[in-house]
Amino acid sequence: MSIASDGPSIYISVDMEGCADIVHWDEVRPSTSKEYARSREIVTDEVNAAVGGAFDGGAKAVTVNDSHSTMRNLLTERLDQRATIVSGRLKPNFMLEGLTPEFSAAFFIAYHGAIGAGEAVMGHTYSPRVIFECRLNGAPIGELTINAALAGAWGVPVTMVSGDRTTLEEAAATLPWAHTVETKRSISYFAAECVSPSAVCAALRSAAARACKAEAAKPFALPTPIVMEIDTYRTAQADHLELIPSIKRIAARTIRFESADFREVYRALQAVIYLGAAATA
Ligand SMILES: [Zn+2]
Repeated sequence: MSIASDGPSIYISVDMEGCADIVHWDEVRPSTSKEYARSREIVTDEVNAAVGGAFDGGAKAVTVNDSHSTMRNLLTERLDQRATIVSGRLKPNFMLEGLTPEFSAAFFIAYHGAIGAGEAVMGHTYSPRVIFECRLNGAPIGELTINAALAGAWGVPVTMVSGDRTTLEEAAATLPWAHTVETKRSISYFAAECVSPSAVCAALRSAAARACKAEAAKPFALPTPIVMEIDTYRTAQADHLELIPSIKRIAARTIRFESADFREVYRALQAVIYLGAAATA
């Protein structure tokens, strides 16, 4: 991958639960269903809108990371030919694989609310079967804040977020400089008030162009040392996770990891996700 030096280079992390008019796991779980096939069309359209907007805004290079589930959701044959795509898993840097300090800005597209958040369609934090709650420095947070902190560790600001209204409330608290697009207003875990996906795409395109020039944006950083606490869903998961020497078990279903470097925190989080899943297999 080459990144041009004249004009911003934009990195896009795209999830799926926060797309327009998607409200149920049946629509985002990879399968041969027509519901999932429709969602792949919607997410590809939203990515193309953001990519097109970035180039409208003067971007010279755009990289897209398919960040949902199997990470093979986007219909790449329909993807804007000017973008490159990071596809498949396992990815050590997961939802931000491919991001480097050379990027000018990151966009988070189709993100969703944290586990435990009210009025959040499919609200979860990485793995709903492993993570009951994730806290950074004592505050419950979602994927948006975690991923913003990882981008911040590389010095890259997040300048655009799309998702439901609850996701944008987390963005307002963490990234007040970010341009935002509300894709739907979640009513409950499986219901939202939506607008047409084409209306969302139009909003994404114009916001992405503006987000290329977000001069007030800065890399998000947490006070150090950074303490990550995770309540696991099952005690068997904490049984396994405390085997990692740097992870402390502070309650039957709570583990703790501390570092001054958020990149280490993120790797510990990956270990929680994969080992936690294996613990219940
Ligand atoms: Zn997802």
